[in-house]
Amino acid sequence: MASVSFEQVTKQFDDYVAVNNLNLEIADGEFLVFVGPSGCGKTTSLRLLAGLETVSQGQICIGDRRVNELSPKDRDIAMVFQSYALYPHMSVYDNMAFSLDLQGKSKDEIKQRVYGAAEQLGIEKLLHRKPKELSGGQRQRVAVGRAIVRKPSVFLMDEPLSNLDAMLRVQARKEISKLHSDLTTTFIYVTHDQVEAMTMGDRIAVMKDGILQQVDSPANLYNQPANLFVAGFIGSPAMNFFQVERSSQAGEEKLNLDGVALPSPETVAKNGDRAVTLGIRPENIYHPQYLPLEIEPLELPATINLVEMMGNELIVYAQTAAGTEFVARIDPRVNIKQKDSVKFVVDAHRFYYFDREMETAIT
Ligand code: ATP
Repeated sequence: MASVSFEQVTKQFDDYVAVNNLNLEIADGEFLVFVGPSGCGKTTSLRLLAGLETVSQGQICIGDRRVNELSPKDRDIAMVFQSYALYPHMSVYDNMAFSLDLQGKSKDEIKQRVYGAAEQLGIEKLLHRKPKELSGGQRQRVAVGRAIVRKPSVFLMDEPLSNLDAMLRVQARKEISKLHSDLTTTFIYVTHDQVEAMTMGDRIAVMKDGILQQVDSPANLYNQPANLFVAGFIGSPAMNFFQVERSSQAGEEKLNLDGVALPSPETVAKNGDRAVTLGIRPENIYHPQYLPLEIEPLELPATINLVEMMGNELIVYAQTAAGTEFVARIDPRVNIKQKDSVKFVVDAHRFYYFDREMETAIT
């Protein structure tokens, strides 16, 4: 087991900066997820830690050891790749035994570790098969098995579930979380899927354009996003953003959303007269027929553009009279259709405020 630290780590490919001054401490035994859109530098960060890329600036430590100069095999890590990278000509047993054989472990120890891992993953019956005789889900387990037999101090996983269909992904997600709690080893996991990140990570590191935007628990990322990017990335459908105008009514500051006067909290007033973007999550917009208790209700009149029936909820696309579009997750018992006018209700307790120019949260 080991902690991991990135200290002012930069990776440059020619003149392109893929990872920009990354500072991140990952605790021993933590499940840390790197998440972000394609090209944001998450895989590069993992490859730097694995020793598959060299660091341009800064240092990476595993435990209290600086590993910049160590070859991948000396870092005491195991990596599961998106492609699984199984050796096609070898049986599952030999795939799992391979690295232990290279380490010079005895036949008995190899057998014990391979069978132990196979049992843990429920793949004992597949040990004699070749990778081409396995389903996608089975291959994914073998790839994980090959990593766990090594008993590394850190597991690295790069989109290990992206080749699985939606149902298998949910199942495999639970298995990896369970594996983490059984092994209590540090897991560092890369995905572009925010649901995977939210459900698996103790903490999530959100990246964009090579820059770490925020690292926090799933709940804090959802409730206190540091900026517009994180706010829009975490949550599905994404948070709605409204360009509100400041106005003063009877000496009281208000935020004007297409003609609807909303309260302006003290934090916003303290931010001077800078332009404000208001964020409202789709799940905090309600139909007046089904209002939860304990909200601070404010009306948001709108016209319906499209309704999607999801079974457990309606995804409603609507627009205000001034034409600002937004999306709401509505109780499925509501009967609404395209072109209807609805006085939606928003919960002022659940508003998010951002400095429009700086794109940072106003707190
Ligand atoms: P994805 O989800 O698509 O894998 P990512 O967030 O993992 O994206 P990286 O693979 O880390 O992104 O790539 C970050 C940036 O660095 C990308 O713009 C990519 O094109 C670039 N990059 C990665 N590897 C190299 C390389 N060997 N040479 C040049 N540029 C590279």
